[in-house]
Amino acid sequence: MARKCEMCGKGSHSANHVARRGLGQYVLARSKRVHKPNIQKKCVMININGQYKQMRLCTRCLRTLTHIART
Ligand SMILES: [Zn+2]
Repeated sequence: MARKCEMCGKGSHSANHVARRGLGQYVLARSKRVHKPNIQKKCVMININGQYKQMRLCTRCLRTLTHIART
């Protein structure tokens, strides 16, 4: 299963890991790394009848949902 948010579609993307050393912080090496989103499984009410479904959501969407639920 893909590591992706089911609400906003946020997924992992690649970046460089930059190894530095010394006072001037000169660059030793660059290597590829992956930025992963913070995905959590959560049971979410999907319609007004109280039907729940387990979804994989990023923590940003979870926060948004709790703000909507409180108002
Ligand atoms: Zn999301």
